[in-house]
Amino acid sequence: MSSVSYPYEAPESQKLFDRASAVTPGGVNSPVRAFRAVGGTPRFMVSGQGPYLTDADGREYVDLVCSWGPMILGHAHPDVIDAVQAAVSRGTSFGTPGQGEVELAEEIVTRVTPVEQVRLVSSGTEATMSAIRLARGFTGRTKIVKFAGCYHGHVDALLAAAGSGLATFALPDTPGVTGATAADTIVLPYNDLDAVRAAFAAHPGEIACVITEASPGNMGVVPPLPGFNAGVARLCREDGALFISDEVMTGFRVSRSGWYGYESAKEGWGPETVPDLMTFGKVMGGGFPAAAFGGRAEVMAQLAPAGPVYQAGTLSGNPVATAAGLAQLRGCTDEVYATVDRVSAEVSGLVGEALSKEGVAHRVQRAGNMFSVFFTDDEVTNYDEARRQESFRFTAFFQSMLANGVYLPPSAFESWFVSASHDERAVGRIAEALPSAARAAAAAVPG
Ligand SMILES: *Cc1c(COP(=O)(O)O)cnc(C)c1O
Repeated sequence: MSSVSYPYEAPESQKLFDRASAVTPGGVNSPVRAFRAVGGTPRFMVSGQGPYLTDADGREYVDLVCSWGPMILGHAHPDVIDAVQAAVSRGTSFGTPGQGEVELAEEIVTRVTPVEQVRLVSSGTEATMSAIRLARGFTGRTKIVKFAGCYHGHVDALLAAAGSGLATFALPDTPGVTGATAADTIVLPYNDLDAVRAAFAAHPGEIACVITEASPGNMGVVPPLPGFNAGVARLCREDGALFISDEVMTGFRVSRSGWYGYESAKEGWGPETVPDLMTFGKVMGGGFPAAAFGGRAEVMAQLAPAGPVYQAGTLSGNPVATAAGLAQLRGCTDEVYATVDRVSAEVSGLVGEALSKEGVAHRVQRAGNMFSVFFTDDEVTNYDEARRQESFRFTAFFQSMLANGVYLPPSAFESWFVSASHDERAVGRIAEALPSAARAAAAAVPG
């Protein structure tokens, strides 16, 4: 990172980071927050409003992380805050069923037609972990298939060749996951239907499920090639395995019914290409820990107490979290999606223009309103190709944007997110910051 300078200091963030590092491993509660891939001091944020974040030193940033996806209406949206305040004043947790859970489940089932029944949990990790257990319980099979570069939370069996933080830090695997667990996970290259076909041929009747990000955003944005998701669904059906579409990132963001709605409309999916199970998180929690998994009623009926597959949670369907999620989903109108789509197209277009002007090799890849930039000339269709980019250029680009008040994901392998609150002023500030960031990327040399 020798080519990168840090043109300003963040003394209050640095003080907090020093204190944090004494009591928390690496000073953070989730690895990608730690700026290790880009260098410098992670910014400790004290408040968010609309498209802006303010750090402990009082500097304001246009936020292009949006809490890694959830804040689709912008920070501190009044409808969400009102719903949360009303819920909090009635008490924070009862350990009984409540009305908010029913309403949130109804909202999900209404929006996403393949989901006939849904179970609420507290994180995307829990959602994918539970969906895999359910798939194994339903099929009576042990093996699972995932794709390299897809991240499904920090579930033991799914940490093989995962994206997100593992991509950022180039961690091949993680200690603490036993050989037996890893042995039941088959990792295949993304967008490669022949590989899926070969896996089923090699393990007939042994594969419980194939899990995939509906459209990957955790190795940067790498959309499925036309027919890929439908092909995976068909191969699963032929073998009796379940198809799990992980929509934790894309769900309720890419469209009102997530990637499912976006892609099935485009490709005209029939019933044989509908996922058996889907997982959700991020947007549906409104900034609180709320997530879900759901799907075919016949499969969901295997869950306790209706069926034998155990799954539970003290804070599942928490009344404050469900109130936040419900308010946010109700606020996600057609106008909101139209705005997010437009802002995303505008910002991603500006980024491409700025980099082209400086002659920086790059590709802006889009999946609906998610996008990211790869520093390479070539189209990226899988994890190996994603890793071939010149990520040292991203480091320089990131630091320049940060110095000019734009907060990007601190990794070249993450999606960028906008919200419906990103207005002309916010987009204007991004546009102003881009030329010098593009120059920094052009001048960067491998660190
Ligand atoms: C973020 C994410 C998860 C994990 O969700 P957490 O709430 O962080 O546990 C799982 N799958 C995908 C696709 C994600 O983007």
